[in-house]
Amino acid sequence: MGIVDEDIVRVREATDLVAVIGDHVQLKRVGRRWQGLCPFHTEKSPSFSVNQEDGFYYCFGCGAKGDAITFVREIEHLDFVGAVELLATKAGVTLRYTDRDQGEGRKRRAKLVDAVAKAVEWYHARLLDASDAGRARGYLRERDVTGDDVRAYKIGWAPEGWDELSRALRLPDDVLYEAGLARKNSRGRPNDFFRGRVLFPIFDVQGDPVAFGGRILPGGEGAKYWNSTDTAIYNKSKTLYGLNWAKGAIVAADEAIVCEGYTDVIGLAKAGLPRAVATCGTALTEDHFRTLKSFAHRVVLAFDADAAGQNAAARFYEWERAYEIDVAVAALPEGVDPADLARQDPAALVAAIEQATPFLGFRLNRVLDAASLVSPEGRARAAEAAIAVLDEHPNPLVRDQYLMEVASRCRIPVEQLRAGTFARPAASASPPAGRAGRAVRVDTSTRRPMRRRDSPEVEALRLLVTDRASIDARLDERLFADEVNLDAYRAVVSTATLHEAVEVAGEAAGDLLQRLAVEETDADADDVLARLVEEAVRRELAVMRAEVGTADEKVVFERGEEMAWLKLRTEELHDPATGAGATEQLLAWLATRPQEMR
Ligand SMILES: [Zn+2]
Repeated sequence: MGIVDEDIVRVREATDLVAVIGDHVQLKRVGRRWQGLCPFHTEKSPSFSVNQEDGFYYCFGCGAKGDAITFVREIEHLDFVGAVELLATKAGVTLRYTDRDQGEGRKRRAKLVDAVAKAVEWYHARLLDASDAGRARGYLRERDVTGDDVRAYKIGWAPEGWDELSRALRLPDDVLYEAGLARKNSRGRPNDFFRGRVLFPIFDVQGDPVAFGGRILPGGEGAKYWNSTDTAIYNKSKTLYGLNWAKGAIVAADEAIVCEGYTDVIGLAKAGLPRAVATCGTALTEDHFRTLKSFAHRVVLAFDADAAGQNAAARFYEWERAYEIDVAVAALPEGVDPADLARQDPAALVAAIEQATPFLGFRLNRVLDAASLVSPEGRARAAEAAIAVLDEHPNPLVRDQYLMEVASRCRIPVEQLRAGTFARPAASASPPAGRAGRAVRVDTSTRRPMRRRDSPEVEALRLLVTDRASIDARLDERLFADEVNLDAYRAVVSTATLHEAVEVAGEAAGDLLQRLAVEETDADADDVLARLVEEAVRRELAVMRAEVGTADEKVVFERGEEMAWLKLRTEELHDPATGAGATEQLLAWLATRPQEMR
């Protein structure tokens, strides 16, 4: 870890966890806590809970838990230092670093991001004002990309000259090369990487500019798209264009729309679908899925996914399972991309996205729609082709569902088709663990353990965590028999904040404390204490009984008196009139008992 500990504490203290989580999850105040739908698993009723005061969250559905730093790490895919830095920036805290090298690496990154940011501004200003950008402005206008869009997406224009940007930015050559803005020419001088293109700046998920996608104007020379190559700050098979703007909408809808063009993202947003991202000149990769997984459980492909072919299909099914993402395909009119449709008929675009069908169903429809189903021979051929598509899917239960559709459309008894498909080995023999596992998980997430009756030890700890003053002074180590509970108790009373307590506690106790921190309690401190005392006395009585068995008569008598006294006081615990007094007396008695070393 490279950041000074003190500064981490300062960042935590300056951060409002509800505000941080509120960027991703709609939170509602419930009593002293905040609740919402968990961003880390699919659920319909909220089991995600936030304690604003102490800065902890906990999900009763999937067990996700932690503080602001953990949350930012998980949701933004950052390492510890990256998460602290992001929060520090938001909170206006200046960080100090312990490790020089790490600081250097980050300085380097900052330098490259800064160079790309300068280029973004320079290109953007060129597009807005320069006389040589007239055709680019015209092109964008034709595509219904307005001046407001140009400003919102920071679209730019790279002039035709060899080194206009390189000269204008006045940055060291190596920075220009490393940031991917220029390449060294044969005379060892920097040449601009982008020339004569409309530029779409690409931002990372945090909103730092890292690269560009460049489109040539119609009739221009060269490839239609020319994109930044990978750099220290940009990896195109991980980056999704538009994710920095769309992530909130994606989480809110639990769905991401993936398209292939920068203008598609803009068009979809203008059509009222702000949850779109685009790959940056590559096919959809596993890394993209991994990124999307933390934002949504459903991905709608808004491009001709079928054209990618069978290999792509097999990969999609694999990722669907591995990342628990459902992949659906929007049926767009042949040869029309989302940007076109957004311009011509936005309502049709919205409908196509809303009616997106699961990937397998989409592929199946393609095959069946293309087949001639009028003759028995045609129907048999269509069924064979359809079954070949079905066989790509790893889950036999899913295959069988679609088989019924094939049977009905091809008018062939389903048993006959079934005999055919199940005689064949599946594309992948692995069990449908992903789907089944997910169904179970959704199920458990609806359970609401907030009001269940816990052991008095846990109830006492919950009071200690949520309303310390109500019970603190009257608790004692002797009252905790369970090791984890005792560990949690010791951690809380030996530290000043819950964060420190979680840090010094063991893993199980730390987990318990974080869960308790987001739970409501309506338990009465006196009542909890009485139950706790009763249990402690019962344990002591068992010890005494065992001792009495081996003792002489006089000791047996004394012990008998003492045990009878304990029984009477324990009875009094249950009577409201005498409960408080009995609790005090028993606590005092417990304090005299020898404490075994634990
Ligand atoms: Zn969860």
